[in-house]
Amino acid sequence: MGLLLEVRDLHLYYRTIKGVVQAVDGVDLRLEEGKVVGLVGESGCGKSSTANAIMKLLPKNTARYDGEILFDGVNIIDLDDEIFRREYRWKRIAMVFQGAMNSLNPVIKVGDQVAEPLILKEGYTRAEAEARVKELFRMLNLPESFVNRYPHELSGGMKQRVVIAMAMVLEPQLLILDEPTSALDVSVQAQIMNLLKKLKELKRMSMIFITHDIALASDLSDYMAIMYAGKIVEFGTIEEVLLDPKHPYSQGLIAATPVLSRDVPPKFLPGNPPSLINPPKGCRFKDRCKYRMDVCDNEPNSIKLSDSRYVKCFLYH
Ligand code: SF4
Repeated sequence: MGLLLEVRDLHLYYRTIKGVVQAVDGVDLRLEEGKVVGLVGESGCGKSSTANAIMKLLPKNTARYDGEILFDGVNIIDLDDEIFRREYRWKRIAMVFQGAMNSLNPVIKVGDQVAEPLILKEGYTRAEAEARVKELFRMLNLPESFVNRYPHELSGGMKQRVVIAMAMVLEPQLLILDEPTSALDVSVQAQIMNLLKKLKELKRMSMIFITHDIALASDLSDYMAIMYAGKIVEFGTIEEVLLDPKHPYSQGLIAATPVLSRDVPPKFLPGNPPSLINPPKGCRFKDRCKYRMDVCDNEPNSIKLSDSRYVKCFLYH
């Protein structure tokens, strides 16, 4: 299994009137072909910013964007923006944005919205594009006839399938899904998760699945990256992180997840994440950590615990 994506020491900072927000601060991430990594953490920890950095979708107030994003061996940070737009974005790396199903164009039939990049970017005729969209709809368990429907004629779950079809239509190697089920009720959420599992099997597609819900991530992912205050504090296989979490924040996230089969109430993590404008020096989790030591006023390095696993915490130094 080849390595598709390797992110090294990625930084993405934003300028605001209150100061510079260190949204992504030294992130490392690896993803093999055909595998899924769940990127998990509380709201505002930098998950979406990491995804935007990989898509090179940078807002005008970007203050810092550096590091390495090696996609198939090419550092896309150094790539010319026009080359990236033409050859990578949507074609090789696609993304389902948070809340994207609410931004479908209300006056264009959903089939035409999905077909547009095939016609504009790939030179398909209208008939060829429609045939491809119908094939995609069948795979996503949407009736073919829905190509002629408008967004308001579809339920939330159906709209989300259309949005996934839009991201998949050019057959990207990497699909980034940012909270793709957060606006859906539980039964529809389960349908979308089953659909993503089917796509993973059928298409051998690599995915980054972004969520604040560790249980949901474990349903689809092969690897888990736990993110806190702009940094990935633990990375490992799903079994390693779920069965034996090492970082105190990972332990807290798992302890806060209700388990139906056990009569143990969830334990909630005390405190709040720090401001990313003036984050604390050293370990950013130290104000919430019951194991805090003097040394935690320094920045913890990544400690390799196995071939697939690292943790940033002085308990393992
Ligand atoms: Fe806690 Fe220190 Fe580890 Fe941070 S480095 S998680 S404060 S023990």
